[in-house]
Amino acid sequence: MLRCPKCGSTDLYQVLGGYAGTRYRCKRCGYTGSFVVESDEELPPLSEEDGAGAEKSGSVYRWIKIIGFLLLVFIALNYLVGILRRMLTVMGA
Ligand SMILES: [Zn+2]
Repeated sequence: MLRCPKCGSTDLYQVLGGYAGTRYRCKRCGYTGSFVVESDEELPPLSEEDGAGAEKSGSVYRWIKIIGFLLLVFIALNYLVGILRRMLTVMGA
């Protein structure tokens, strides 16, 4: 099994065979080159999965914060619009 030497992914495809030699391109990290790791071991492709998972939960937390902030802004805007409307009706009357 061929592996990308950069990220360890097995998602490689062959490009530009022929006189220049066989080259491979990694779908995962974009690595291109004739040097690939040949391995039959079932190694997980580095520890990027864990990092992605942590980032995912982190982004969920970030979204909660963003939504909370937006809600606050929305409430504040509603409040301001309410004051403005009252002011306008007072001026109009
Ligand atoms: Zn790669």
